[in-house]
Amino acid sequence: MNGKIIFFTGAGISAPSGISTFRDENGLWNNHKIDEICNMKTWVKNYDNVHKFYNEIRDSLKDKEPNLAHKYIAELQNLLGEDKVINITQNIDDLFEKAKVKKTIHLHGEINYMVCQRVLCNEKFYIGNNKFEGVCPKCKQSMVKPNVVFFEEEAPEYYKAKRILNDIKTEDILVVIGTSGNVFNINTYIKYIKYSTYQRPVLILNNMEDSKYINKSNFDYVFFESCETAIEKIKEIINKKIKE
Ligand SMILES: [Zn+2]
Repeated sequence: MNGKIIFFTGAGISAPSGISTFRDENGLWNNHKIDEICNMKTWVKNYDNVHKFYNEIRDSLKDKEPNLAHKYIAELQNLLGEDKVINITQNIDDLFEKAKVKKTIHLHGEINYMVCQRVLCNEKFYIGNNKFEGVCPKCKQSMVKPNVVFFEEEAPEYYKAKRILNDIKTEDILVVIGTSGNVFNINTYIKYIKYSTYQRPVLILNNMEDSKYINKSNFDYVFFESCETAIEKIKEIINKKIKE
C-alpha cells in the first residue's frame, strides 16, 4: 500500500473502555461548571478546584484499559510504521499509550502531563495518573497547569492536524471514529476531500449514531455501532486496501 491511513478519533473510541465522555449527559463536566475547571481566563482563580478535578480524572483512568479499536491502531502502526499510520485524537486520556500506539497527535493535550505556566520555565513533565499537588520540578513554583487545552486557549496541534487532513491523497484512507464533529469541524475537511477533483481517498465513519455535525453521505462506509464491533469491519476494508 502506497498511501497513508489516518485515524481521527474522539471520545467514542474510549467509551467502551469505560471512560465517560465529557459532553455526555452523565459526563464528568456535569458536576462541575466548565468555566471553573476548563477555562484559560478563570483557571488561576480556581486553581485548587482545577487540580482537584483533573486529579480525580487521572485517578479514574488508573484501571481503564484500551479496547480493540485502540489496539488495532497500535497493531497497524507497528506493521506499517508511524509515517503511514497517523493517529489524531481529541482525547486527553492515555489509552492509546497504554495500547502501545507509538505516536499520537493529541489535539486537546494529554492529562498525564503538566505544563509550567511561567513563561521563562514552561517545563512540560509527565505525572502519569498520579495526583498533582506540588510544584514545577524545574523552577519550583506552583503555577502549573494540566497539559489539557482549555477554552480560550490555543490548541497548538490543530495546525498539524489541518495540514494532514488537507494533504490527504487518493491512495489514503481516512477513518473517523467516535466524534460528533462538534468541537473539531471534521465535516469541513470531509466535504472538501469528497468534492475535490484530485482527492479520492477511502472515507470511513464509525459513530454510535448520526450527528448533525457530520454529513454521513460523504463517506464510503458508515458504521453506526460501537467501535469494538465496527473495528473488525474497518480492519477488513483496510486489509483489502493493503493487499492492493
Ligand atoms: Zn516551572
